[in-house]
Amino acid sequence: MTGTSNQSAEEACEAFVAWLDRRVVAAGRGDALDRLEVAPSGTFWLGRLACEDEVQNGAADERSERLDPCAIGIRLRPAGPSPWSMTVTVRARAWVQDPKNGPDPERRWWRSDLVEETVSVLVDTAGGVFGSKQLQDALAAIGAPGLRAEVRVEVEDWHKETELVVQLVNTSPEKAPGLTDSHLYETQLEVGGLPTAPFQLEALPDSFRYDRDVPAYGVNVGVEVPETGVFRTTDTVMVQTFRPTYWIGDSTPPDLAFLTLAHDPLPQLDALVNALAIYDHAHWSPEALDARQAAEGWTADMRAEADKSAAEVFAELKRLETGLEILQTRPEVLRAFQLMNKAIARSAEGRGYAAWRPFQVGFLLSAVRFLVKADDEARYVDTVWFATGGGKTETYLGLLLTAAFFDRLTGKTVGVTAWSRFPLRLLSLQQTQRFADALAGAEMVRKEESIKGAPFSLGFLVGQAGTPNKIVPKSEGDEITPASPGMPDKYRVLLHCPFCRDPELQMRFDRKKWMLEHRCTNQACTTYGRSLPMYVVDQEVFRFLPTVVVGTLDKAASIGLQQAMRGLVGPPRKVCSVEWHGFTYAERSKAPNGCLVPDCQGTVKPLPIEMDAKRFAPSLRLQDELHLLRDSLGAVDSHYESLLDHLQLELCGTRAKIVASSATLTGYDRQVDVLYQRTGRVFPQPGPRAGESFWTAPTTKPLRRFVAVAPRGVTLEHVSDRTLDALQRCVRELVADPAKVCQEAGVDPTHAPLLISLYGTDVVYGTTLYDVEAAGRSLGSNNTVEGINVEQLTGQTEFDDVRAILERLDKPEEDFAERIHVVAASSMLSHGVDVDRLNTMVMLGLPLTTAEFIQTTARVGRRFPGLVYVLHKIGRERDAQTFRHFKQYVRQGDRFVDAIPITRRSRRVLDLTIPGIVNARTLMIREPKSGQRLSTPANLRNYARNAGLTPALETEAVAAVLNLEGAEDSVHLEQIATWIQAWFADLEDPATKAKYIGDLGPHSPMRSLRDVEASAPIHD
Ligand SMILES: [Zn+2]
Ligand SMILES: [Zn+2]
Repeated sequence: MTGTSNQSAEEACEAFVAWLDRRVVAAGRGDALDRLEVAPSGTFWLGRLACEDEVQNGAADERSERLDPCAIGIRLRPAGPSPWSMTVTVRARAWVQDPKNGPDPERRWWRSDLVEETVSVLVDTAGGVFGSKQLQDALAAIGAPGLRAEVRVEVEDWHKETELVVQLVNTSPEKAPGLTDSHLYETQLEVGGLPTAPFQLEALPDSFRYDRDVPAYGVNVGVEVPETGVFRTTDTVMVQTFRPTYWIGDSTPPDLAFLTLAHDPLPQLDALVNALAIYDHAHWSPEALDARQAAEGWTADMRAEADKSAAEVFAELKRLETGLEILQTRPEVLRAFQLMNKAIARSAEGRGYAAWRPFQVGFLLSAVRFLVKADDEARYVDTVWFATGGGKTETYLGLLLTAAFFDRLTGKTVGVTAWSRFPLRLLSLQQTQRFADALAGAEMVRKEESIKGAPFSLGFLVGQAGTPNKIVPKSEGDEITPASPGMPDKYRVLLHCPFCRDPELQMRFDRKKWMLEHRCTNQACTTYGRSLPMYVVDQEVFRFLPTVVVGTLDKAASIGLQQAMRGLVGPPRKVCSVEWHGFTYAERSKAPNGCLVPDCQGTVKPLPIEMDAKRFAPSLRLQDELHLLRDSLGAVDSHYESLLDHLQLELCGTRAKIVASSATLTGYDRQVDVLYQRTGRVFPQPGPRAGESFWTAPTTKPLRRFVAVAPRGVTLEHVSDRTLDALQRCVRELVADPAKVCQEAGVDPTHAPLLISLYGTDVVYGTTLYDVEAAGRSLGSNNTVEGINVEQLTGQTEFDDVRAILERLDKPEEDFAERIHVVAASSMLSHGVDVDRLNTMVMLGLPLTTAEFIQTTARVGRRFPGLVYVLHKIGRERDAQTFRHFKQYVRQGDRFVDAIPITRRSRRVLDLTIPGIVNARTLMIREPKSGQRLSTPANLRNYARNAGLTPALETEAVAAVLNLEGAEDSVHLEQIATWIQAWFADLEDPATKAKYIGDLGPHSPMRSLRDVEASAPIHD
């Protein structure tokens, strides 16, 4: 191999990935093997064909035929009328078993020479069979007498246009004298000489964006077109995607470096908005659409869709123009934006990037109006839509810091600016770290600029599996004490110091302050000797109300149980006089002064007087991975979102702005309406053509090579094991003999160490825990390569194990043999695990949703070319469909994304959420207003009598919270009334068994939004 000198690292990766793929496909087909010890039919999964008899005698349904097919074929649409003439080339081999006393008794199976026969076909509408004799003779000639095959042409004239299905069928008898294996191997079919017309993908709503031509479809295989008019089957379907660029066209991009925007942002922002205006007019004006309609033959429907999209594009442009105007005219907004940039520059130092991508700034401009028109903007949910990741978290952080600085500059000196929620356990430590890094950057800037108020800080609020709700002096049951096993190290959340990046952090429990602290051990660090501004215990979050709270969505349920959650929707009560005790809440028998520190003897002082108590309400609620809020989880959350809105409105008279991110656009507007009772807006608007917009367009640099595999005749697990085995064998060969492998792969040997690092760790991804665990186990026992180190990353993996695995992935061991070779992962991986060294993936079956497919595969190939094997569970209808459309599925994944099933009118869910709503109204609204303690039934009973609380009034209030007051909601209204009557009866009963108010009524408030089964479908 020549031409490898001056090869870039990226070119080397590209060549290496192609070589890896050739080797895996060869392992699947049996290429390059002469002899085998075991039966080939139990080994190979590509290119093989069972015999028709066997398939028909088996459970002859469509499903089993896909699992071990007897034919491969190409579906074509002939351009002219019958008769049709074409040449069909057939390629195949056989495997034959020698008798026991043969030449190699240990390895009795041998591989035949290649059969390559061209069959002439002339066929009319009746179809026909061709080449039987020719192929039988050829198979006999290579030493496999008894094997038979034929070319079968079927004509389907019931479609709108006639379709031909040209197939190679294995017609060998199942058992024939002298025949040891009735399979054909390494089969291929090639059709030429037939003029054809392309298929047209069915019209979808936004089909004006897409190239809808499909030249041919494969039957049990892929099809490639090596030259015009030639169609050839492929064993796998390969789709290459390309790395995007974030600035298109020839014009000079504006300088969006953090430091430029910190210094003098307006000229750059002006240039950006101008460029967008020019682009939008060039592509979306009526004239531009007229021209495309004429050139591409759009239907009236397609044009109407394009007009609708154009209107949304111009509305987006208007929002950016408004954002720019606000920065030009409102000095405090401009200053907040500049300080944010300075802070982001600080937190990005040494990470290889120093500038925004244009779309990130575009989003910030489009969203910034909420700072000055909070009421109006709270009516909208702004959804950030990123088809391929790449900067979503940073974009969030930009918005958060802008809001945090704006708060400080306008008199909010303390309290939560934003509560950022991730679904279930999908908040990764890496993501949390990025939040911490950004806030540390902001804190350094705040100090330098002498901006008043509390230091910027981060709270970590997750379900019980993560960090403690509270720490108690003496444990009752499973409560955590300072002496509990694993304390305090077990609860380390940060991977490194956000101020100085030193990984040597120390966990410490300070009994005096009653705080679980992260401390940096670097003596040069500005925080040395103090705790980092990071709160990981729920009660510390309530005590200190950090600037940003990051956590899991399920924690929203605490609002119905925990009165100190009030700090996340409104003001706390007061401040404890003891230093480091923080804010106080309602008085309880165990907390007589309302301080959350156990046994506090302090008095209480009023809230910071310079600040209006109403400003404690957060201005932002963020929701990551919005598309996952579906089914029961979505329904339950929709009620709790309404409750949060209700409480904040009652306590502070405001509503938070909601910003979300989503991997899907399908139905986001309805989802947002159901979840938040707000209007949805999305940024950025999709461009005029698929994959291309003002904000992003593909380059020629490879991103990911997707390879669809439809395993034949063997189990999916076997294929997964063998694929990983082949990948590991390849890398080990590179370790052992770099010169040889580099020559074979066409790689400059100087890149070998890089390739070993980048392709030496494979991910095997399973959609179920069962699959993941099975994959991990079987690899240990079922491979030809020795010493494969497997680690698991699933929702079951312990917190500190996750951190250790991430660390090993980020900084691999010197010796290849010591490294992690395979990560067996579940969906836990698809959220926020960003490791540049993960570049190969084996996917066990398609994930349930296309969004998960997009997100999961985005974990590999982040910086260097990636390779993804998608093993289809081909017996399943959906996998079979996707295999057929794999190219479109990968390239146009966003339109395959299924609409999100969600409703707020579920009676089952209502039953779960009413108790939390009623309880929260008592804890957060009635109790502080009353000036009494209402935590016990007796106290609440008295209060209810005096305040005139009735079942009818409370029913009306709860229905209003949930917006279930319309005529169509009469059943729900009745359900609420019935529940509240029962609750009242319990309250009025002096003999009630309830000890606390949360125990009143038919059942208690949910402890976690996870109490509902996340995947169970819910109906109106
Ligand atoms: Zn430090
Ligand atoms: Zn106290």
